[in-house]
Amino acid sequence: MTNEELWKAVLGQMELSISRANFITWFKNTSIVSNQDGIITIGVPNGFAKEWLENKYNLYILRALKGINGDIQTIRCVIAPEKFTSSLPTVDSLKNIDAIKSPETTGFVRKKLIEKPFFTESGPSTPLFHETNLNNRYTFENFIVAENNDLARAACYAVSQNLGMAYNPLFIYGGVGLGKTHLLQSIGNEVVKNSPEKRIKYINSERFTTELVDSIKNQKIDKFKEYYQQMDLLIIDDIQFLSGREKTQNEFFHIFNSLYQLNKQIVISSDRPPKAIPTLEERLRSRFEGGMITDISRPNFETRVAILESKIAEKSFIIDTPAIRFIAENITQNIRELEGALNRVIAFCEFHKISPTLENTGKILSQLIENNKKTLQVDDIFRVITEFYNITKEDIIKKGRKKEISHPRQVMMYILRTELQTPFSTIGDIFGGRDHTTALHAFEKINKNKDSHPRLKEELNVLKERLYYPV
Ligand code: ADP
Ligand code: MG
Repeated sequence: MTNEELWKAVLGQMELSISRANFITWFKNTSIVSNQDGIITIGVPNGFAKEWLENKYNLYILRALKGINGDIQTIRCVIAPEKFTSSLPTVDSLKNIDAIKSPETTGFVRKKLIEKPFFTESGPSTPLFHETNLNNRYTFENFIVAENNDLARAACYAVSQNLGMAYNPLFIYGGVGLGKTHLLQSIGNEVVKNSPEKRIKYINSERFTTELVDSIKNQKIDKFKEYYQQMDLLIIDDIQFLSGREKTQNEFFHIFNSLYQLNKQIVISSDRPPKAIPTLEERLRSRFEGGMITDISRPNFETRVAILESKIAEKSFIIDTPAIRFIAENITQNIRELEGALNRVIAFCEFHKISPTLENTGKILSQLIENNKKTLQVDDIFRVITEFYNITKEDIIKKGRKKEISHPRQVMMYILRTELQTPFSTIGDIFGGRDHTTALHAFEKINKNKDSHPRLKEELNVLKERLYYPV
């Protein structure tokens, strides 16, 4: 396995286990620059990425690497100058882990390499980027239609055939990893295919907000609005993140109105229906409700099997039917996890040259399935927090007020509250009999600061990912 293939396999796993926004922010333009004596050196584009990969994703990357090659012991990052990184096969140009060639000896064969760019979004530093942000990996053709998503799919398809005329705005909601982004992107790709002259923009609401804030800072707000107002199709993913952002909502409202009046198509997704998005301005809510709203729910067993089969065929890979059914029986919550499990089985079998039988599949996925079954416990939160901040459980329980300790403690109190709905008095008890008001203040402080401090928000995202998607 070359370094390039190894890194592709790791990226394949990371992409599926962390949010897309984090994945793009931290893993774009990274590559393995050397692999010697169990030490992997990762080239990264800047100091910020180096800090995050080394301090926050280190264990995760190492685990993913070890899962493929047990000899790997350490990772380190180097800032690879632009000239150097661009001469390397950057992830932009890499194909997905399907590109790993399978040895004939493993009993399964790959027929073709499939182009799947990892990134289609610009890096965080790009100010106003004039691109569609479409990823050609998401199409209607490779979207499996079943009872959990058939209405949403039909609405998206209708919109793609008749921009601005079928349903406007179209609002799709559903839980994490159920295919919202896939459908939204499919609309864009379908329009590009049929009417390449149309102006299309796909963007998630967090990126939209960042662009907006940048354009205000750089006094380019008029340009920003003008740019968005000339779209024929504007797709905003994960609109729930606009919750509580008044200024962004206000600007979005104006952009929305001018597009709407011109019969330009707007498509929106969210993890919940408009009514359930807190602090969404009433006028926006009623605009959303004025169009078509449809949901995607969880796939049933047969659909999960069908999705696995289609992904396996896409990768030209062969897996025994009992093994496929095993994955579908055990990974039930979302399709992203389902794909992650499948990718893990494929990468592991290819690397170790073993066949994906039921028995091997069970072994490879045993830890993942264990983790999936467990509900979150206080100790899981302790483990993730202490690992992340590199402190001990004793440190965090003790009375110390140093910021290195008090910050993680406040974050943990916040997470206990948001994720386990732990009463403040119980949180006080968990932290060595502190008063409930201490827990309440900690919660309020983090809750308030997270919106104005992007670093804190990022921290919370990563922590949650680690709680729910242990690699
Ligand atoms: P969401 O945006 O709802 O969190 P995504 O669209 O990112 O979810 O879907 C997660 C993964 O599952 C993607 O790789 C996507 O291609 C895949 N997926 C989701 N639904 C389907 C489906 N019905 N058919 C094929 N692949 C799907
Ligand atoms: Mg999504």
